[in-house]
Amino acid sequence: MTAVVETAVELRDADAALDRVVQAGDGFAGVIPAGGEFRIVDLCGNQAADTLFYDALDLGNRYSATDTIREQGAVYLTTGSQLLSHRGDLLVTISADTGGRHDTVGGACSQESNVIRYGSHTRHQHACRETFLRYGAPFGIGARELGHNVNFFMNVPLTPAGALTFADGLSGPGKYVQVRAERDVLVLISNCPQLNNPCNGWNPTPIRLLGWWQA
Ligand SMILES: [Zn+2]
Repeated sequence: MTAVVETAVELRDADAALDRVVQAGDGFAGVIPAGGEFRIVDLCGNQAADTLFYDALDLGNRYSATDTIREQGAVYLTTGSQLLSHRGDLLVTISADTGGRHDTVGGACSQESNVIRYGSHTRHQHACRETFLRYGAPFGIGARELGHNVNFFMNVPLTPAGALTFADGLSGPGKYVQVRAERDVLVLISNCPQLNNPCNGWNPTPIRLLGWWQA
């Protein structure tokens, strides 16, 4: 009889198939193959990484915050959270999390929401919606395909009455969140340029993306 030896798979930066730094206000789009591990590192702390997930083979099958929150019975995302599409299909599972708090209720910033929240003087400011459209276009994603998003590292506490509040992030330099693709998944990221609330620490900073899969 042969003893079973469990071997932990160590993910090393040097082995990553994807290793990219995304500056504040810039974005990323790419496919994570099924079984791939994808990590977002908050390089400087308190940055918000606005992220959309799609079934790469059917862009109409996309991440749904409402289905995910209902099925997991919790409003915040962390290790073990299964991110579902609006058809109930599993897109990704959060496989590691050192950041602690990730919002999926607050939505992504747009020029319109900036005006409503912060005043008309902010209309000219770049917002996540524009980054999503810019990086999504080569994959066939337009305004109609933009749905619910995850705000990784963003702290949006809910009040007992159900209102949203913005608060200082709980993340810090080097904290990360990692997802495992449960099917081929297109990930679309806007590294939020928002200057008007504390979620970015009033100072948007870069993130690093690492991915492990067979190239
Ligand atoms: Zn934003």
